Amino acid sequence: MIKRQLNTVLLVALLFGAFIVKAQDTEKNTISAIYQNALTNYDSYNNLRELCTKAPGRLVGSPASELAIQILKAQVGKLQPDTCYLQNYTTPSWRVKSPCRATVQYGSKTESLNVVNLGLSVSTPLTGITGEILEVHSLNAVDSLGSKVVKDKIVFFNRAMDNSKTNTFEAYSGGVDQRAGGAAKAAQYGASGAIVRSLSTEKYDFPHTGVSRYKEGITKIPNISISTNDAEMLSRLNKQHAGVKVWVKSDTETIDSARTSNLIAEIKGSKHPEKIILIGAHMDAWFNSPGAHDDGAGCEQMIDVFRIFKELNIKPENTIRLVLFMDEEMYQSGSKVYAASVGKEKREHIVSIESDAGGLLPLGFGIDAGDSVINSLKKLAEPLVDYGIYKTGKGYGGVDIAPLKSFGIPLVGLMTNSQRYFEYHHSANDTVENVSRREMQLGTAAIASLVYLIDKNGIKY
Ligand SMILES: [Zn+2]
Repeated sequence: MIKRQLNTVLLVALLFGAFIVKAQDTEKNTISAIYQNALTNYDSYNNLRELCTKAPGRLVGSPASELAIQILKAQVGKLQPDTCYLQNYTTPSWRVKSPCRATVQYGSKTESLNVVNLGLSVSTPLTGITGEILEVHSLNAVDSLGSKVVKDKIVFFNRAMDNSKTNTFEAYSGGVDQRAGGAAKAAQYGASGAIVRSLSTEKYDFPHTGVSRYKEGITKIPNISISTNDAEMLSRLNKQHAGVKVWVKSDTETIDSARTSNLIAEIKGSKHPEKIILIGAHMDAWFNSPGAHDDGAGCEQMIDVFRIFKELNIKPENTIRLVLFMDEEMYQSGSKVYAASVGKEKREHIVSIESDAGGLLPLGFGIDAGDSVINSLKKLAEPLVDYGIYKTGKGYGGVDIAPLKSFGIPLVGLMTNSQRYFEYHHSANDTVENVSRREMQLGTAAIASLVYLIDKNGIKY
């Protein structure tokens, strides 16, 4: 009797084991099919080219951003998702009316500088402003010098990104205070303008923009970014000559209320349509940039996840919701509007996944969640290690999905090899030609595979 029971147990165990092996085989085959499909397909790269050539500089509220929404909606629509709609809202906005210009004057010579407005910068008078430059390498230095030295100067923040760091995002974080808060600090002591060295790992002529903030109650002064090459030239001239002056002309305006939208589309779940796997990226890009890596590539990767599921006839059990956010770069208004709209759905979001680290070689997924979720996702993503996705673990999700964390929704961000990211980021150099179709599609395949694995197996909380 005992022997028979044992045999039964053994048989059940064997059958169960076989079932697991079969399930794992199916998963392996599906992941292999996803990669083969992604790597041999050109739709997503062609879509990226369409977006970046027709709607470069798609900053929130701009005509280009409205065009981008329509282009992306049409691209999604072609895949015939179950739903596709715009989440409309209004937001403040800002725009550059004409490209800013600057020259350096030393001795009897004048040379033009490669500059670009920093986000939210105010205008100069029509004739521009001229001032002596004051070079500093930190915000603290401005505090130490005080009004006596700073007043009426154009403060030149020239601390370079720390290229000795292997993590470029760390190097970026180390330099971003000058861009974000330099003008406000200089204005506090009566400066007439601010020039900030571009946040780039490369030495070249592309100026990089990015967001900056003023302080309530302090006069807003024009705030511009200068290419790394010209930052070095300006610094050199300032050391070699007395009374070096800079002329700056900036022409911008703020818009109180612009109509804009997030784009949302879904493939409905076959078993649990109320449960959501969110995949997202942001549609907007800086006024001076085609925004191919940041974040055209992310948008196209996420749209391509839909194409891959459809072509391979993968019918998800849970709903896959694509959210293309507006306005990551300035106010994160799209992200806030989406989070506010989630309401009672929040418990139904299984996970949110963002791609906003460039269409570069993917290395893994950063996870911003509790330990059990991290361990569960790490385990789920194990089959992807063979495809070079080996760095999955605790990390960063993304700016657009960040507000969802307060609802307890796990945040996941595609991690890429970011060694070259800051050669492109927020500059005219962020072009489609600088995105490798193959690297971008490896990212698409990694995301599609992770979505598939989460959909099949769930996440253990
Ligand atoms: Zn971005």
